[in-house]
Amino acid sequence: MTTLQIEPVPCLRDNYAWLAFDRDENVCAVVDPSEAAPVRRALHAHGLLLTHILNTHHHPDHVGGNLELHREFGAEIVGPGKDRARIPGISTGVVEGDRYSVGSHSAVVLEIPAHTRGHIAFWFEKDAAVFTGDTLFAMGCGRLFEGDPPTMWSSLSKLLTLPDSTRVYCGHEYTEANGRFALTVEPSNPDLNSRMAEVRAIRKEGRPTLPSNIGIEKKTNPFLRVSSPEIRRSLGMPGASDVDVFAATRRRKDSFQG
Ligand code: ZN
Ligand code: FE
Repeated sequence: MTTLQIEPVPCLRDNYAWLAFDRDENVCAVVDPSEAAPVRRALHAHGLLLTHILNTHHHPDHVGGNLELHREFGAEIVGPGKDRARIPGISTGVVEGDRYSVGSHSAVVLEIPAHTRGHIAFWFEKDAAVFTGDTLFAMGCGRLFEGDPPTMWSSLSKLLTLPDSTRVYCGHEYTEANGRFALTVEPSNPDLNSRMAEVRAIRKEGRPTLPSNIGIEKKTNPFLRVSSPEIRRSLGMPGASDVDVFAATRRRKDSFQG
């Protein structure tokens, strides 16, 4: 078995849809197609036919291209079983622990609610890749639209159990802004400083900063680093619980003008 090839498709202002494909097996999935046109162009450019549409959650910037791409390619639409009513064209709803395959490439479904109630991740274990939608970003995490801090913290903690080498493919190019915030709470983290230098150089050239991986996120993402003494000092919460530190970090980011 070859590993899935994964390519970004920039959509809208700062979204990524992702093509995940295996040419030997003639399968190609798109994860979170915001809109159909850029996905169609990317399929043409790579000489691919779309066979699967995977959705992490119901927001329009993640499902906006579903119906048009389904009409054009007949691709099966897969998404959170707990949010079927809000996923346009869904035919297969999946829940925690389900496996869903793209050709021979099997993904484990992880329920990671809080950004939305039904948010899921697709973890392609053998391909060492996870699609995290708007839950885990590079150096950031999603806003809590439909869940409280303990729910988001347990969703992120679930992703933290994946191997460090797992590549993280998320839904937005927010990395540089996230990193600017991260530096305000953990300015002397050497990994964070060197990553930000790389990220700034990559963005200056207009290239994607993704994928990240779980190991890099553990070292640089403030929302995962609730036990960092420096972050706790910055927040004035040396003895607080992990979830309270997470909640305070998230609140501070909500009002960060960076
Ligand atoms: Zn979203
Ligand atoms: Fe989004």
